[in-house]
Amino acid sequence: MTDGVVAADAAGLRRAAELLRQESVCAFPTETVYGLGAHAFSAKAVAEVYRLKRRPSWNPLIVHVASTADAEALAHEWPEAARLLADRFWPGPLSLVVERAHHLPAVGGPPTIAIRVPAHPVALALLRECGLPLAAPSANRSESISPTTAQHVIRSLPDVPLVLDGGPCRFGIESTVVDVTVAPPRLLRPGALSLRAIRDVVGPLQLPGQGFAGAEVRSPGLAHRHYAPRARLHLVDDPAVLAATAEDADPGTLGILTHRSTAPPGAHVELLSADPLEYAADLYAALHRLDDAGVAMILAQAPPAGDDWLAIRDRLTRASAR
Ligand code: AMP
Ligand code: MG
Repeated sequence: MTDGVVAADAAGLRRAAELLRQESVCAFPTETVYGLGAHAFSAKAVAEVYRLKRRPSWNPLIVHVASTADAEALAHEWPEAARLLADRFWPGPLSLVVERAHHLPAVGGPPTIAIRVPAHPVALALLRECGLPLAAPSANRSESISPTTAQHVIRSLPDVPLVLDGGPCRFGIESTVVDVTVAPPRLLRPGALSLRAIRDVVGPLQLPGQGFAGAEVRSPGLAHRHYAPRARLHLVDDPAVLAATAEDADPGTLGILTHRSTAPPGAHVELLSADPLEYAADLYAALHRLDDAGVAMILAQAPPAGDDWLAIRDRLTRASAR
């Protein structure tokens, strides 16, 4: 049984909280992407998340809570870096990996736990209404494009019992994940919160090597193809190569994703902003639109170098992986 998409008003929040307390699941907006929420320490509810998403069981979930105090209660210890980062960036798009409190069920996976306090008013209202810590991975089938609208959720997960509609997500890209069990803290996944902002607060960060090879062991979810449209996506560095490839392709079957205004004619062109925050906010929606247009191949203009584009480069690289 599914209620489908409902308004995130008082009645919608009550219904969603009721589902969560019954160890069912529901999707809700966050400032990053839509999450598929479940009571984080209910084996039954968490199993439903993995089943609906077809997420591999080895990929652990981020737990969402309403306050830093609620987060600390889930941690065995709360390092200085966690205190500084939580003070500065919560509620917000930063997930912290800390040692898990020993009283919490060891449901396999690492002895750590990834936690964040989301900034979206609907997410916070739902956390307060249900009074539960919520595991909430992106509300889409594993490996496919993350949802930034309620309609994206229903399309990817038609069997989800309920989706709270909070409109389009502000950041449109997943949280930045930082492991604070080590010193200096280690970046596990680039995301909506910039490295510069994090470094300003805690100083240097350990960065994984090319392709986040180092992070793949510590953060298993990074090891795989992810965020991928149905169409085959190719990242192209040289705009001239992009134009030449586009010229050779059948325009009806070709999608182009670019932040440059000089896109070749004919193809389905998604022209995104040259500002990385605006680009990120529209990236997944643009990939959804290209899939809707039925293109067979997407040529994506490689984003510029530099930290501000790190998360976008990461997502496009994973979207292009086979
Ligand atoms: P998602 O919820 O799909 O946006 O992804 C959550 C990300 O956080 C994945 O890359 C997970 O591997 C990572 N993650 C969750 N829990 C932990 C943990 N305890 N230690 C390291 N990485 C984690
Ligand atoms: Mg995801």
